[in-house]
Amino acid sequence: MSILIKNVLLDDQKTDILVEGNRIAKIAAGIETPSADCEVINAEGMAALPTFVNMHTHIPMTLFRGYGDDLPLQEWLNTKIWPNEKNLDEEIIYWGTKLGCLEMIKTGTTCFSDMYFFLPQEAKAVKDMGIRAVLGLTLFDGCNSDNLPNVKKELEQFEQTLALADDHVQFALSPHAPYTVSGASYQYIKAYAKERNLLMHTHVAETQGEVDNTLRDFGLTPVQHLHKWNALDERSTLAHCVYLTDDDIKILADTGATVTHNPNSNLKLGSGLNFRYPELVKAGVNVTLGTDGCSSSNNLDMREAVKMASFIQKGRTKEPTVMPTSESLAIATVNGAKVLGLNMGRVAEGCLADFVLVNLNTPAFTPNHNTLSNWIYAADSSVIDTLFCDGKILMRNHHVEGEEEIMAQAIKMAKKLIKV
Ligand SMILES: [Zn+2]
Repeated sequence: MSILIKNVLLDDQKTDILVEGNRIAKIAAGIETPSADCEVINAEGMAALPTFVNMHTHIPMTLFRGYGDDLPLQEWLNTKIWPNEKNLDEEIIYWGTKLGCLEMIKTGTTCFSDMYFFLPQEAKAVKDMGIRAVLGLTLFDGCNSDNLPNVKKELEQFEQTLALADDHVQFALSPHAPYTVSGASYQYIKAYAKERNLLMHTHVAETQGEVDNTLRDFGLTPVQHLHKWNALDERSTLAHCVYLTDDDIKILADTGATVTHNPNSNLKLGSGLNFRYPELVKAGVNVTLGTDGCSSSNNLDMREAVKMASFIQKGRTKEPTVMPTSESLAIATVNGAKVLGLNMGRVAEGCLADFVLVNLNTPAFTPNHNTLSNWIYAADSSVIDTLFCDGKILMRNHHVEGEEEIMAQAIKMAKKLIKV
């Protein structure tokens, strides 16, 4: 099966794009239709842009959107999230995940790295929606190494889940954070992940309080603490890292760990604006971008996160040249794809055919001096007309097949989930 996209704007040049199977086979002006069954799309007035890789979220929590806003973190967790999460079941997870996938498709994301529970149901929803994910099993031990046997038991059961991996879904391990998981469990989980070449995805240094407590309890920063327990290498992704010392940045660079910035979540939860992007880049750390869950950033819109990340860095450094559009696009696309082992995040020959066609006949793209600038700084996701993932069209005319049923089911599931 092939699809030929004619007259599309790519890097501000008009060209054609030929998709064959799940890859971008050719990019050139005047490509001839290769076969009678090739679908031809006239993309006059549209531009092609890569889809996003959302490197940190908790996708079934999309059902908590708008529930318990504007509360202190601990009160929010204790009174709104944890009591209701006891009601989670397979059906809630499936439709909550589908709702999140639908929102990602609508906002131009085709791959995400998640941290939650009920992974088989998440995996089924992701496969049914046709996008890609790395689903991390969330693990806790109450920061008490006496509970390591429970973690081991969970990992024994996890072996069955691993068999569900395919081209669209990979699995990872997600020890929650250094304040909920002991060093001994981190070491065990990391060794288990390493043996099976799985990613380890965790929360680190999200708040000043977390850093203060880790210093008090272990005499180490959260990053130093994880390093001590051999939890950091090029297959480790660390969400947040809002509070990093120079030594932490050196450790991250030396170990090859990836950092995921979540600007909207860090702002909404009052975690802070301290993300040290220029220093991380200078040290050679791989920086990626995420939205975090919808209960702490309220949407899964990566384009909005890119703009926020860029503006925060310019504001906090008082330097408008920091994080130009080429870099902000990279943290939201290729930098994440690289860690996940996927050749995506670029519209280029040989890459996976994951991209969007955006409508240029819109106020945000008028005038269009620079497509990337308008996409990141001016537009919103309503300009996305068509979305490709793995060579298949998942959205046309900004409509996803079955979206009405997904939203109807999600409303039912939210009622079943939220009781207090
Ligand atoms: Zn998170």
